[in-house]
Amino acid sequence: MQIDNLKHQPHVRIDHVTKSFGDFSALRDVSLDIWPGEFICFLGPSGCGKTTLLRAIAGLDIQSEGQIFMNGRDVSALPPSQRDFGIVFQSYALFPNLTVNQNVAYGLVGRGLKRAEMDRRVASLLDTVGLPDQGRKHPTKLSGGQQQRVALARALATEPKLLLLDEPLSALDAKVRNHLRREMKDLQRNLGVTTIMVTHDQHEALTMADRIVVMSGGQIEQVGTPEEIYQNPASAFVADFVGEMNFIPAEIVADNRVRIGRIEFDADTSGQRERSVLAAVRPEDVVVSTADGRPNSFRARIEEGEFLGSFFRARFGGGDLGENSLRADVAMHDIRNLKLRPGEEMPVAIPRERIRVYAQAV
Ligand code: ATP
Repeated sequence: MQIDNLKHQPHVRIDHVTKSFGDFSALRDVSLDIWPGEFICFLGPSGCGKTTLLRAIAGLDIQSEGQIFMNGRDVSALPPSQRDFGIVFQSYALFPNLTVNQNVAYGLVGRGLKRAEMDRRVASLLDTVGLPDQGRKHPTKLSGGQQQRVALARALATEPKLLLLDEPLSALDAKVRNHLRREMKDLQRNLGVTTIMVTHDQHEALTMADRIVVMSGGQIEQVGTPEEIYQNPASAFVADFVGEMNFIPAEIVADNRVRIGRIEFDADTSGQRERSVLAAVRPEDVVVSTADGRPNSFRARIEEGEFLGSFFRARFGGGDLGENSLRADVAMHDIRNLKLRPGEEMPVAIPRERIRVYAQAV
């Protein structure tokens, strides 16, 4: 019974948390459970409250309302030092006058470890983050990526059960960032440490997270696996923020039937109360072919197009689309028999299950 309870207990529970700065609410009634060993990303545009939420979990900022639990214990009133976590910031925040070894050992000082044990732990941590033999250097002698590895080793030194990452990769160049992304994800999986990472980079969230928490305006818009968020965005905001999306004004003409321009489509309209809606379709879901007469198909003209290596990106307009335009990303292996050139008119289809219908306001 007790084991069951532990298994079913979130590692972190955020319970109706609100954070105000004066009149402004940076977080508005946020609730979320995070499970042991999960990799969670807080994803959203600048100012949506993701850092504020991370800082509230850390105890670096105290929420104005609501509570935060760790393993079932209310930690809302505890200082950061009494919450078991390691943290990495975007700016590395290493001590420049200390060596790499001393930086990593920092959190271990005062824990009653013998010198030899401490040295062994530090060396092992530097090994873990891929920096063996760098311990005697000063951080300023290291690259940005290496400095962030040191910051990660330092955060892991006390073997915290929770790792908090505040945009840890965003100061790094694209190549180093991609590399570290993979390494951090592998490390997290191997250690099994519950991890919460703040990012505004959708690719980072999609590739690293077990679950993504999409935020906007101090609130949670959607929580789901990367696949759920990408394939089934709960709102036009999420659909727009994650991945590419065509939004086209449409009208519901009957249950599960929408009109765009001069074309009527089958689409799931459940949950919509207004007649005027937005139809949303991802560019890669638009089917371009030589065959007329498919379900949900129409004729349209390529107005612009560019070859992008593995796919062709076309903007369709005119024809049955009327004033609307529709972007399509057509995989090269699908287009051998097609003349994809501006001015060409051809059949285009959007499978029913690939059209999402949202209320008008984005
Ligand atoms: P970014 O990626 O730009 O850091 P974010 O989603 O992490 O964005 P937060 O840093 O959480 O956003 O800030 C959310 C809102 O709260 C912002 O409008 C910000 O200006 C405001 N805010 C944050 N900290 C304070 C503070 N100490 N005093 C006043 N307003 C603050």
